[in-house]
Amino acid sequence: MGGPKGIVFDVKEFALYDGPGIRTTVFMKGCPLRCSWCHNPEGLSKEPQMLLPKEGPPRLSGQAWDAGDLAGRLLKHRDFYQMSGGGVTFSGGEPLWQWPFVREVLDQLEGVHTAVETSGHVPDEVFDEAMKAFDLVMLDIKSVDDRTHRKFTGSGNARILSHARALCAGKTPFIIRLPLIPGVNDSLENMEAAAWFLKGAKQLVRVEMLPYHQAAGAKYGMAGVLFDPGFDTNRQPRAHSEPFKRLGIPVIVF
Ligand code: SF4
Repeated sequence: MGGPKGIVFDVKEFALYDGPGIRTTVFMKGCPLRCSWCHNPEGLSKEPQMLLPKEGPPRLSGQAWDAGDLAGRLLKHRDFYQMSGGGVTFSGGEPLWQWPFVREVLDQLEGVHTAVETSGHVPDEVFDEAMKAFDLVMLDIKSVDDRTHRKFTGSGNARILSHARALCAGKTPFIIRLPLIPGVNDSLENMEAAAWFLKGAKQLVRVEMLPYHQAAGAKYGMAGVLFDPGFDTNRQPRAHSEPFKRLGIPVIVF
């Protein structure tokens, strides 16, 4: 078949935390950021790669899919999506890094609620198109402070904040996700800044805080990626939700 192929490293069925209802989540390979806390190091490289676990046989992460084949698999659970108010979520890695493929799959999911979990670190034209194509956008804001963002993700945050502004002014329902990393971005000041940034956004469904879990480090070895977090992984992150509540922004802590 023609059209771009997509490199996918996992398809998780009956997912409950990647948007509303019961969903199927597609994990696309490749990400332009290098967050030092990343939970999916096997999703960083764009290419398929062998994972070498300490125990058990090697396994391949990343498989090339045809858009039609993937859409067919996703549509198998259409009844569950309808019954539960769920749908399909694209995650990663950074799913919008493979936008031509993702768009082709979306075109074949008519009538299914679709969502994307994105870092927002993608070209403006891709983000614009995605805002129109998805029913729900879930955007990570890792730090409102550019220097902190650059230090812990490898890139500045200007493009991401510009896309967050576009969501605040736009018509697409969106969720902002804040990974809480101890000593990096869990300060009251960062949360105050994020809350004021989002104040008044009409389509903001809620803010979700996602505390760092130590388990993330375990996967690095098998993916051949150095785990060098640069923060105290033993400390519990703080979850300052008050700044959002004060401004009337719904917020939940996972
Ligand atoms: S944006 Fe997400 S997938 Fe990419 S490095 Fe950061 S945490 Fe990992």
